[in-house]
Amino acid sequence: MNLTPRQRSALGLMGIGLWTERRAPTAIADSAAPATAMPVAAPAPRRDPAPDAEWDALREQVLTCTRCVLHKERTQAVFGVGSRVADWMFVGEAPGRDEDRQGEPFVGRAGKLLNSIIAAMGMKREDVYIANINKCRPPENREPRPDEADACRPYLEKQIAMIRPRLIVALGKTAAQNLLKVETPIGRMRGQRYEYPDPKVPVVVTYHPAYLLRSPREKVKVWQDLCFAMNIYKESR
Ligand code: URA
Repeated sequence: MNLTPRQRSALGLMGIGLWTERRAPTAIADSAAPATAMPVAAPAPRRDPAPDAEWDALREQVLTCTRCVLHKERTQAVFGVGSRVADWMFVGEAPGRDEDRQGEPFVGRAGKLLNSIIAAMGMKREDVYIANINKCRPPENREPRPDEADACRPYLEKQIAMIRPRLIVALGKTAAQNLLKVETPIGRMRGQRYEYPDPKVPVVVTYHPAYLLRSPREKVKVWQDLCFAMNIYKESR
């Protein structure tokens, strides 16, 4: 796989070491990770974004939402961040403490790792869109309950409809199961191409960056999943 120096350094930050054989292409150390996908270059914007007024109205609805109990303990709702014409959308579970304070998804330690993952794919955080299943922080960072995820779902659906990404990466079990409305264990969802129904968008499932902070050896599997996603993306262009 041909990697730019920036991608090599991002993989290094993810904790994935690289080795070079004399006559073979660079591969990922100590894994059977397929060197099948060439990391994508930052995609060029391909169309006009949804009108600002539509975005503003949705943001206002989210920031003032009281549809579930999570609004009671939030500092603020966390809307989403990134390019409104992103080809790639990353969906996490719900804001944690840092995100609740700063009003932006994935800004804590898991967010830093997500930034490195995005960089290793050849993109910047600003090129993609990042959102969560739930827009408000659950107390003690517990998993959002099904009724809370259902209450918040229309907001994510609207974000997906406005962005119309080419590929969605679901980060972790809660994101994957809620987005796809399945109860399949995450280990069985990895390596499969799912489809978000309307608009039709391929979905790839991988582990949550917070899990990688606890289990760094699994980073190689995430890189495998993202190579799989990048191949789907390339085929769709
Ligand atoms: N974990 C998530 O799932 N989302 C965030 O925004 C932060 C941490």
